[in-house]
Amino acid sequence: MATKRPDFAATEDLNPWHIARTQFDRVLPYLPELLAEPGMAEFIFEPERTLKVALPVRMADGQIHTFSGYRVLHSTSRGPGKGGIRFHPAVDEDEVKALAAWMTWKSALVDIPFGGAKGGVACDPRLMTQEEKARVTRRFISALGDNIGPFTDIPAPDVYTDEQTMAWVYDTYQMMHPHQNNLPVVTGKPIDLGGSLGRATATAQGCLYVTARFLEMAGVPGVDEVHGSEVAIQGFGNAGRNAADLFLGAGAKIVAVGDSKGGIFDPAGLDLAAVEVHKDMTGTVAEYPGTKHLSPIEVLEVPCDIVIPAALENQITMANAHLIKAKVVVEAANGPTTPGADAILRARDIKVLPDILANAGGVIVSYFEWVQNLENRQWSERDVQERLQDKLIRATDTVVTQRAGMIEGHERLPEPDLRTAAYRVAVGRVTKTTFQRGIWP
Ligand code: NAD
Repeated sequence: MATKRPDFAATEDLNPWHIARTQFDRVLPYLPELLAEPGMAEFIFEPERTLKVALPVRMADGQIHTFSGYRVLHSTSRGPGKGGIRFHPAVDEDEVKALAAWMTWKSALVDIPFGGAKGGVACDPRLMTQEEKARVTRRFISALGDNIGPFTDIPAPDVYTDEQTMAWVYDTYQMMHPHQNNLPVVTGKPIDLGGSLGRATATAQGCLYVTARFLEMAGVPGVDEVHGSEVAIQGFGNAGRNAADLFLGAGAKIVAVGDSKGGIFDPAGLDLAAVEVHKDMTGTVAEYPGTKHLSPIEVLEVPCDIVIPAALENQITMANAHLIKAKVVVEAANGPTTPGADAILRARDIKVLPDILANAGGVIVSYFEWVQNLENRQWSERDVQERLQDKLIRATDTVVTQRAGMIEGHERLPEPDLRTAAYRVAVGRVTKTTFQRGIWP
């Protein structure tokens, strides 16, 4: 495997909040209605509220450890805040701010009545007991108090949090606010606790719907459809593992997968069921026998048609964008591609289905869960899938046609990529509601 990766870290700014700003700035010339009101772009981009809380937790060894927790409400222009809670050692304020902004654009792009938010705790849940994770979660939710709520800011799962974490979020909030229906305060809950059918696989399912529609609409030379395509996936959790299953089910060949410990590659196609057993037994897909063993980053660089980063930010950078061999990048993760890498991929005519479109299935079914909880109803799996597919087909079509319109209507500006087209729609919608509501008072 080629591993020539020049070290661009010194020249490329990898701060997620700066990257979110660069992406926002890139679309501004295409939004004359926003630029016409000086100061409005700043208001729309800056988070409405940024909270940092200290969380003292007694650990299993009896020692007290104080964790840092963050919750950022980026925008409520189109509705209450919505966004996941991440538990990861690299969580910090700028990462949470970026993730919250991306949620604002995502909710707007797929046209659901939410703004954007995100939360995180700097911790390593892989080294923590269940009891320690429960204590961190409960202390975090109690520290956030009324800064979250069914009509203010609604959390969901993200990296290293899951439906069990969401059950603790719900229970803690319920203890603090008894005698009312609190199910809509958090989504991604277990099915028996008001969760929605289809939520667990929604992010990956959304990736598949968007990819299939994009290939059908836009036509990528050599990749006509998902069926028969070769797929590599970095990250083997909620987004990545379900994507592997669903793309395989749609007739793709999964040639590489990886997690934080390493990756595996087999050009003949991996035996996914056996790899999953290996992952469940050892905690990693790495070193699955009979495959070529890779580092986590090398999974992105194998020969294939479609590569799906489904782990963390800043995985495709100026250091490795020239090594990507896929023809389409499907961003299941948030922020996996840096602006510098975007430019390289654009020059190489590699299509990038941006995160705010490709991974929006999760927040769409979260919205469905919230609606079901408010109505005390449960929709069938078929209802969920039909509505999810409908939303994502509309959003994909809107992005592709928007891009075509931007190329024709703004000849003097750089040719927009799919991310910029998606931002044109999303930031345009947030701009519209912000003008409609006006600046208070
Ligand atoms: P998860 O905790 O379920 O899985 C994360 C996976 O990434 C694990 O397999 C882990 O081993 C792997 N990983 C961690 N660090 C890595 C590294 N350095 N290199 C390679 N692999 C690494 O998390 P998830 O919910 O699947 O989230 C993954 C991405 O998808 C994140 O960017 C998240 O924001 C995004 N996302 C998730 C959802 C959702 O509904 N869960 C929705 C939209 C977007």
